[in-house]
Amino acid sequence: MILAFVEHVQGAPTNLSLEVLTMARRLVQGTDEPLEALVIGESGTAAAGILSSYGVSTLHVAADDRLEDYAPAAWGQAVAELARAAQPSIVIGTASDRGGEVMAHAGARMKLALAANCTEIVLGDPLRVTRQRWGGSLLEEARLTGEVKLVTLAPHAIVAEASPTRTEVAIQRFSPPISDRDLRVRLLPEVQADTGKISLAQARVVVGGGRGVGSAEGFAELEELAGYLRGTVGCSRAVTSLGWRPHADQVGQTGTRIAPDLYIACGISGAIQHMVGCRAAKHILAINTDASAPIVAQADYAVIGDVHKVLAAVNAEIRKRKAVPVG
Ligand SMILES: Cc1cc2nc3c(=O)[nH]c(=O)nc-3n(C[C@H](O)[C@H](O)[C@H](O)COP(=O)(O)OP(=O)(O)OC[C@H]3O[C@@H](n4cnc5c(N)ncnc54)[C@H](O)[C@@H]3O)c2cc1C
Repeated sequence: MILAFVEHVQGAPTNLSLEVLTMARRLVQGTDEPLEALVIGESGTAAAGILSSYGVSTLHVAADDRLEDYAPAAWGQAVAELARAAQPSIVIGTASDRGGEVMAHAGARMKLALAANCTEIVLGDPLRVTRQRWGGSLLEEARLTGEVKLVTLAPHAIVAEASPTRTEVAIQRFSPPISDRDLRVRLLPEVQADTGKISLAQARVVVGGGRGVGSAEGFAELEELAGYLRGTVGCSRAVTSLGWRPHADQVGQTGTRIAPDLYIACGISGAIQHMVGCRAAKHILAINTDASAPIVAQADYAVIGDVHKVLAAVNAEIRKRKAVPVG
């Protein structure tokens, strides 16, 4: 059996978890191994409907009220407990911040190695994996041994794809033994910032700003454009280092990996550490004064000019068109 650890928001699997399910389904195809999934918290049972389109036959629900809030050690304990009991050949999770942390806890408890950030997985014993190292600038081929193979899938290594056929999903609840010690670190709802902002990882449009934006205030034009495009604002590390934007907005190796339909990179040079965070974007539009900036060569479209002049003109045009009633 292959077990997918599925992260969800009130029963809706995250996009990265759908990628994990797609990879897991590909792995079981042509074998007689079933694909099963694990969600944490009773609210995760609502995922069953979507999971039936991804070939899942059994949904294991770690049902304990104390697990509803994110608690990395306790969630890792739930993964380890189910893996010990069900003995899947592989447990595969996302390489999101949470996925990586939970799978690492599970590995430590089971005294098993974890192959993180995999882009390819070839069944067998040992399991053969290709994984991203150094922020994706190096691909490593590795062999993974152990009774249960623990892996995480690199974000956007594959595209999530539902199956044309649906499966009947059996729901099985279990209560992993959780100690107070497992719950020492928890993310409580009252301390979670609800900014109402579209998350960078999920946004279809990201307007990113770099040092070339010039100041924290300069981001107002990027915010305006992102608002028109129902997108969100990101930034480079130069910008977070300067204190213009919070780290949560940073795109890149040490920030968030994004996969929007459109990434508008404003005043960003295109350093490798930035590009590893946005290379899954379907289209990149660069706005830069320097035609020889690395990002211009990597972009699908480029406007060579001052970001403030360009964005002022674009926003003014959108404002004008919005003011004119259509038809
Ligand atoms: C271990 C490590 C991890 C890192 N992780 C990250 C990461 O996660 N994310 C990340 O972004 N970086 C990361 N970096 C830093 C990275 O190497 C670059 O230093 C950073 O991305 C540069 O940011 P920038 O493009 O905004 O600034 P710069 O490189 O200074 O580029 C500014 C750009 O703006 C243009 N410009 C200037 N004025 C204007 C204007 N008025 N209009 C239009 N264009 C203008 C310039 O031509 C230039 O291309 C990391 C570095 C290391 C060593």
